[in-house]
Order: sequence, then structure tokens, then C-alpha cells
Amino acid sequence: MTAQLISGLCEQLDASPTSFHLVDFIAKQLTAAKFLDCTDQKQISKSASNGFIRRAGSLIAWKTHAKHLDQFRIIGAHTDSPCLKVKPNPDENRFGWKTLQVEIYGSPLLNSWLDRDLGIAGRVVLRDGSVRLFHDSNPLARISQLAIHLDRDVNEKGLVLDKHLHLSPAWATTTNATEFTDWVAEKINAKTGEVISFDANLFDTSPAKIIGVDGSLLASGRLDNQASCWAAISALIASQENQATSIVALFDHEEVGSSSATGAAGPFLEHTLERLAAANDLGRVEFLQALSQSSCVSADNAHAVHHNYPERHDLANAPVINQGPAIKINSNQRYATSSTSAALFVRACESANVEYQTFVSKNNMPCGTTIGPITATRLGIDTVDVGIPQLSMHSAREVCGVPDLISMQKALTSYL
Ligand code: ZN
Repeated sequence: MTAQLISGLCEQLDASPTSFHLVDFIAKQLTAAKFLDCTDQKQISKSASNGFIRRAGSLIAWKTHAKHLDQFRIIGAHTDSPCLKVKPNPDENRFGWKTLQVEIYGSPLLNSWLDRDLGIAGRVVLRDGSVRLFHDSNPLARISQLAIHLDRDVNEKGLVLDKHLHLSPAWATTTNATEFTDWVAEKINAKTGEVISFDANLFDTSPAKIIGVDGSLLASGRLDNQASCWAAISALIASQENQATSIVALFDHEEVGSSSATGAAGPFLEHTLERLAAANDLGRVEFLQALSQSSCVSADNAHAVHHNYPERHDLANAPVINQGPAIKINSNQRYATSSTSAALFVRACESANVEYQTFVSKNNMPCGTTIGPITATRLGIDTVDVGIPQLSMHSAREVCGVPDLISMQKALTSYL
């Protein structure tokens, strides 16, 4: 029965090998739920009480409930995941293999990309200015690991991959096999000469799967952070009438620091909130007043205690799998959580009747960061960092708990 509750997430994960595909998937989902696509509107009209704006791999959606806009309740998450991207002019011939040159995006666990059946997806910009997505989930490419006979002490010394030499996937062995740009053009039924540029990611073609003898786990690529995007969007669609304006802000480029035109450090959220305020007849001062009354939940997955490595955690504040979303705390502001914002999320969990936990990293182990501190810094809004516990973060195939996903979705709905 719980599997049914996350079938939408599995569908989303399989349809979204890139941030562009994810935004496309979510835009269709929002349109079906009667949200108006305001991407190309010069002015957001007041009648667009439920709407969204997309910008490449980022999207902001809103639901205005109250007659008068005087505060925002924001959920933030990121749409991108670490991966391997195909470089321009990628084609190479090596000893009978046709290979592709790749660039590393973010910080993937590189070993997890070896010996997998890889598909290729991305977007293409054509000479006429149009942008088209492509997605081929056939197993097309493979990065093979060196045999143990040629790397005798790999199990003792660990695998060391040279980032430039050892990550090129092979995708053909015949000398007359297609060149990459010709293949991309073919994918969108265009001529090679029409393609000006492309973004192309490799991805693991294995679909999202519920695993475990009790069916309590979900394995897939990109759970960090598409799981939070799913929980946030389904919470927004489900949210009921209340006093605040509900916002979901999904940003690209978190895995590379968020500093980009569409990243959380850019102006996309601030500008969209201000445009929404203007659509609701608020002046600049009233808009700033609304910001001061607002709050933000930054949702991004946390590290569950690993059954084989419990010593990596501070066990008093270590999230256990399937015991609820974790509130992430770091006094050095790598997470934005304050005691007041933590209390806000606790109240949301309590009213949704779901368990919650806390995560603080060990003092000798620096923790990651999220879009939380960036959003808090830009807008001056009290922000809490939360996330469901998972293992294998940044692997090509990660794992999280099914009950945790449902708890997060309920807690976020209650927050909005
Ligand atoms: Zn993340």
C-alpha cells in the first residue's frame, strides 16, 4: 500500500535524468493540477492564484490562499544531482573502442558509475533558437572497471580513478558508428547543422525500485534531491486554505555551489516573490514587511546511520532510517536551522502526526551544506534545514526509506 503512495515519485525519477527533465515533469504535473504557467507573462496576473515560473533547470510555484498577501511559507529544494556530462567534441577512438569525453558535475561517488548500463539525456539548442529535450533510456554506454588480474591490490588499497583518464564511457566498437552530435540531432529529428549546442548527461538506466524483504526502501539515482522536490510539490498541490502564500522553489546548480543565474544564490526567488507581491498590489515596504513575517523549509536529504559505519556519526544526533525526517543543525551555519525555525518544523511534524529526528555531524567531520543558508542570507527569512535520511549519497544509485518519504510529504503539507 505504501508503494502506491510513492508511485508518483518513481515515475518522476525515471522520467527525470536531468534537472531540465525534472522541471518539465513537474510543470506538466502542476498544469494538470490547474496551476497556471506564468513563465512568459510580463506581469503575473492577480488571477493566477496558483501558478509557476520555470527557468531552465529551476522552477518556482505558488498558491495564494489568503485575500491579502502578508507572508510567504517557502519550501526550497534542488533539482540537480552529481553526474557525468558529455563534453563538446566528445568523440574519441581508442584501441577498437569509440569513447566519449566527459566532465564531472558536482561530487559523484565515481566508482558507482562503473560497470553500469548508461543512458544519455539532455537538451539541445537549435539554430532557430528553440530548445528541445532528449532522453534515451536504452543502455548506450559503459565505463568498465579494470579486471582484478590487472589491478591486483584494488581490494586492499581501494580504487583510485584518474578523473581525466579513467571515466570515458565506451559506446560503440564499430569504426563507422555515429558521431555524438549526429546522434543528438537524430534524437530530436533535426539535421546536425541545426544543432548549435547541447547539454548531455549520462545516467544509470535501472529504474527506481522498491527493495528489501519488507519493501521499506527505495533505490534509485538522484534521490538527492528529487525526493525532496517530489515531497514539496505534492505538498503544495495538497495544501489547504491558510493565511500564508505557499511557495515551492526548486533550484538547479546546488551541487556546484548555487552561484548561477538559476541557482539559489541568484535572484530568481527574490524577483519572483516581488513580482507576486506586485500582482497582489503590495508596495515595496509592504513586500519587505511580508518577507519579515515569512519562513522557509530547506529540504535536502540527510545521512542515515550506515549499518557498517556507525562510528561516522555522532550517535546522539544521528538519523535512523525510516524514523522520520531529520532536522539538520550546524552552529557554524552550514545549515540555516535556528531554534525558532526548528520549532516550526517540529510543530508541522506533530500536527501531521509524524516522527522527526535531529542530525548534527561529528566535530571532526565537516558537514555538507544546502540552499538553506543561501536563501536565509539573501532574503533574511528564518529557515530550517531538514531532510529524509538516506545512504550512498551522490552514488549513481542511492537508497532511502519509503515511510520516511511519506512522513516528509505529510510534514511539508502540514507546514504549508
Ligand atoms: Zn542534496
